[in-house]
Amino acid sequence: MRLGRLEVHILHESTFWLDGGQMFGLVPRVFWEKEVQPDPGNRIPLGVHPLLVKSGNTWALLDTGNGDKFDEKFRKIYRIEEDSPVRPQLADLGLRPEDIALVALSHLHFDHAGGAARFDGQKVVRAFPNARVVIDRGEWHDAWSPTEYTRGGYKPFDFECLEGAAEWINPNEDAEVLPGIHLVRSPGHTAHHRCMLLRSEGQSLLCTVDAIPQSHHVKLPWIAGLDHYPLTSLATKKSLLARAAAEDSWILFTHEPGNRTLGKVRPRDGAWALVGPLVEAIPE
Ligand SMILES: [Zn+2]
Repeated sequence: MRLGRLEVHILHESTFWLDGGQMFGLVPRVFWEKEVQPDPGNRIPLGVHPLLVKSGNTWALLDTGNGDKFDEKFRKIYRIEEDSPVRPQLADLGLRPEDIALVALSHLHFDHAGGAARFDGQKVVRAFPNARVVIDRGEWHDAWSPTEYTRGGYKPFDFECLEGAAEWINPNEDAEVLPGIHLVRSPGHTAHHRCMLLRSEGQSLLCTVDAIPQSHHVKLPWIAGLDHYPLTSLATKKSLLARAAAEDSWILFTHEPGNRTLGKVRPRDGAWALVGPLVEAIPE
């Protein structure tokens, strides 16, 4: 689909399942189960939707999904299914992994950075060998020095091999990494989490990643228990939603299950509400 001068493909990489309590934080199950039915393990489904964007003649991949490095035990824990890693999907568009010139990562949790690396025999190598890999310098630091609380989300084999190709962005600034492709500071889920904002010719699409992972999370108190700094997440959500409404921007809910991932928001009764049902693509 087109967004101004940008060509945008929303990829559907996989579905995986996380504990509902981890996804909705202090919201009791009696509330959230009215919106989403958990499986017998109390888990709810999460889609994984990396973005493939062409800016000028340059192909960029914004987040890379879970990838295909996980063993059976891990896949079972997270019920990773319906997976279609990004590399083979590129072939459907006539692209090779070598054609990706830029990989931008929102943060380094495995469901976003996992696809940036792959096994080549016993060795882990970069999945997109010609791409410069853009990462917030603060996130890079935190992923290499996790605490007892943050360790679970980071798998070093996702990012160890990226060091030679990594290009760090200043944690204190938003960054335009290619014309029309911005990495927006959005702390809370991690201290240096980034959203992806696409902007071209008056149109915009905000990929909220884990700041607002699913359309349920448009409700302000619905903040994932996984977030490292939930009150910071709240402030981030408020500013992202206000910005999206003011700019009439599309929001891509990165972890929405299924193919309908796009919506818009409007203010309602001092909070925010979705405008109509989610859609699969920006209408022409
Ligand atoms: Zn995530």
